[in-house]
Amino acid sequence: MVKKDIKQANELMVGKSRFSEWYSQILLAADIIDKRYSVKGGNVWLNYGYGVMLNIKKYWDELFHAEGIKEMYFPLLVPISYCEKNEKWWKGFKNQAFWVRGGAEKEEYILRPTGEPAMYPMFKTWIRTFGDLPLKIYETVSSFRYETKQTRPLIRDREITVWHEIHTAHSTQEEAEKEALNHKKMYDKIWEKCALSPLVVRKPLFECFPGAIGSFEYYNLMPNGKVMENGSINNLGQAYAKKFGIKFKNNTGKEDFAWMICTGNGARLLAAVISVHGDDNGLILPPEIAPIQVVIIPIFNKKNKNKIFKKVDSIKKELEKLGIRVQTDLRDESAGKKFYDWEIKGVPLRIEIGPRDMVKKSVMLVRRDNKVKKIMKETQLKQIVKILDNVQKNLLENSNKELRSSITKVDNLKKLETVLKKNKMGKVFWCGSESCWDKIKAIEEGVELFGTDLKSVKGKCVVCGKDSEEFGYVANTY
Ligand SMILES: [Zn+2]
Repeated sequence: MVKKDIKQANELMVGKSRFSEWYSQILLAADIIDKRYSVKGGNVWLNYGYGVMLNIKKYWDELFHAEGIKEMYFPLLVPISYCEKNEKWWKGFKNQAFWVRGGAEKEEYILRPTGEPAMYPMFKTWIRTFGDLPLKIYETVSSFRYETKQTRPLIRDREITVWHEIHTAHSTQEEAEKEALNHKKMYDKIWEKCALSPLVVRKPLFECFPGAIGSFEYYNLMPNGKVMENGSINNLGQAYAKKFGIKFKNNTGKEDFAWMICTGNGARLLAAVISVHGDDNGLILPPEIAPIQVVIIPIFNKKNKNKIFKKVDSIKKELEKLGIRVQTDLRDESAGKKFYDWEIKGVPLRIEIGPRDMVKKSVMLVRRDNKVKKIMKETQLKQIVKILDNVQKNLLENSNKELRSSITKVDNLKKLETVLKKNKMGKVFWCGSESCWDKIKAIEEGVELFGTDLKSVKGKCVVCGKDSEEFGYVANTY
C-alpha cells in the first residue's frame, strides 16, 4: 500500500522551484514522513526518515553527555497546578494546550507543551544548597500544541517530535552566561554535522520570554527566501526561579534564586536539511547523518549475475571495514529505476559495478551532490572515506554561499521593500527602539526584523535615522 503510493508520489514529483509542493511530496517519496495519519499535525515517521533524525539525535546526545548534561525523562501529563505557577506562560498556552481527563474523577491535566512546567517544580524539590548546583539536564521527547495555523510536517506540527530541551540552573549569573555560550558552541557543531550554515541572532528583550535577560536564536534560509527559526538558547535570568521558588543557600548561608538557561530544538533541523540541500531529483543527505552513505548497484544479466553479486558483496565488506554505512540494491529492477530511487533518498554516493568494471578491476562512483562521475580502481577504495568528507564539506559550503548571497545591505525602507519583494533578506541598522522594530514588521504580513547580529557595528537606523550600534536581518519568516 505504502509502496504503491510512494511510486505515485515519484511520478508526481515537481521541481524545487515550487518549493511548498516539492517539500510536501518529497517527505513521502523519500520515505521520511507519512502525513496521512488522521490527526492534524501528527505524522508517522517512516523508517528511513527516522533513521536520519536519530543520527542527528545521536550526535546531540554525545555532545550533551560530554558536557555533563544528564538525560532524564519527565511525565507527559502536566498538572494544572504546575502550569498556574507561571501565569503569563499559562495565559499563552492555556488555549494551545491539549487537555486530558482521567478516570471517573475526571482529573485534569495538559499534555506537555514545553518542558519547564513539568521540570521546574522538581528543580524546586531537588535544589537546596549551592552544592546542588549547577543542575544540568535535558530530555528528548514530543511536545504538544494545538496549532490553529496551517501545519506542515517537521516545521509546524501539533505533536512536535524528537524535540530536545536542555534546562540548567546555576548559582551565579556569570556561570549561567558561560553555560549559554557553551550551548551555542554545541549548537554550532550540530549545524555543521547537518552541513548547514545558520544565521545566529540575538533577540531584543521585548521579544524574549517574559523575564528573560537574553537569547540566541538560530535561523535557516529556506529556498523560497523565507527564514525559519530553528533552535533557541534562552537566558532566563532569575525570572523562572522566582515563579517556581527555585532557591538555594549560598556559601554564606544566604538564600538566593537560581540563574537558569533553557535551550531547545528538534526535527526542524531535518526540515532544514531536506529543504536546503534537496534538488529536483530528491534529497541530498550530508554523509555525517545519512543512514546509508554508499549504495552499491550491480549492473547484471542472468549470465554474469552470480559473479557480479559476489564482487558487490566483497566491496560492501571492504567499505564496512572502513566504517562506512553501505547498502546494496540487488533487486530485479532496471539500473535506471534503482538510480532514481536512491537519488530521491539522497544517498551521498552511488557505486555501479558492471561487467566492464569487473574486467578492469574498477568501479564507477557517482556523487549525489554535484553528480560528478569517477572511475576508481578497486585498490583505491580507501579514498571513498575522503570523498564522503568532501561531499559533506561541499554541502556546507553551498549552504553558506546561499545564505550569504541572499543577504543585501540596505539603508532605507524603500530599498528594503524591494529586496524583500525579490525574496531576499535585508541587513539593516536598527536603533534599539521597539517602535522602529514594529515599523519594519508593518511592511507586510510575515515580514520581521527577526534578530540582531552578535557583532556590534555603528550606523544609522533604517527607520528613524538615529545612531545605531546594532544591525539585524529582515525577511519573511515561517
Ligand atoms: Zn530607529
